[in-house]
Amino acid sequence: MKNIAVIGSGTMGNGIAHTFAQFGYNVQLIDISQEALDKGLATITRNLDRMVAKDKISEADKAKTLGNITTYTTIKEGVKYASLVVEAATENSDLKLKIFKELDEVCPDDTILASNTSSISITKIAAATKRPDKVIGMHFMNPVPIMKLVEIIRGYNTSDEVMQFTVDLSKKINKIPVEVNDYPGFVANRILMPMINESIETLYNGVAGVEEIDTVMKLGMAHPMGPLQLADFIGLDVCLSILNVLYDGFKNPKYAPCPLLVNMVMAGKLGVKSGEGFYDYSQGKKAEKVALQFAK
Ligand code: NAD
Repeated sequence: MKNIAVIGSGTMGNGIAHTFAQFGYNVQLIDISQEALDKGLATITRNLDRMVAKDKISEADKAKTLGNITTYTTIKEGVKYASLVVEAATENSDLKLKIFKELDEVCPDDTILASNTSSISITKIAAATKRPDKVIGMHFMNPVPIMKLVEIIRGYNTSDEVMQFTVDLSKKINKIPVEVNDYPGFVANRILMPMINESIETLYNGVAGVEEIDTVMKLGMAHPMGPLQLADFIGLDVCLSILNVLYDGFKNPKYAPCPLLVNMVMAGKLGVKSGEGFYDYSQGKKAEKVALQFAK
């Protein structure tokens, strides 16, 4: 196994490409435009520079890592020689089903197809292919080059061999794999998202302000970052879409997204990526509190 294709060069895709390339794999990084790929490569270069500055890797390691990545704007060209494809495109069920259908048609028969989805059913994605035994969830955490955990999600039909292969591969890139079954939100988001949602609900009910809620969780529960700031980093649109998957999947009102979260997403306040969420990130500001009209 030498060639790994990564679909999507956004936040997660460029981190996944960076990590595999750093560990000596040839990575084919695929996105819909050269512009998106250039942005992904620029992020990888910046992150490698930071590692060089901290003496974690050498300049030669950086050059080698970048040399291991080639870019493609079509799936067909990019996956030709891949033994494994890791899909990290936008979190949208229809899009992922379309991508996996195409992957199944153009990839060699023995290629393993993994998705980095945060919440969409691996079993459903696998059903879009004729190789459901070779479809698996590989849920990396952000930022990928730093975070150790990979949730390995076993779809209903994922074979034991593919499970074992993916666990072993994760260890080879210095990650700690945890095997989980395929139910909405898997483990990470099934636990994290209700906590974030409850924090937003607490704000919405006027119990306390943004900084107060985050301070309670940081100082009281030893969380490195408060839940509202974490939601800003994840992206409020991503949080909303994961909560909707939990809500639809379990049909349980405890997962219903808080109306304030829904409003903020509709208003384009998506967190760090849009410059404002629960905090203000515009013009280089770091997590400054914004005034929110949250009173019920
Ligand atoms: P992102 O928006 O940063 O990047 C998505 C990329 O996919 C974009 O560059 C987009 O151009 C590309 N893309 C869209 N359609 C494509 C196609 N047909 N072919 C190739 N590329 C295409 O999103 P992200 O945050 O990197 O999320 C990617 C996946 O990772 C999602 O499934 C998400 O749920 C999951 N995830 C995200 C996080 C996180 O913290 N952001 C954490 C774990 C998992």
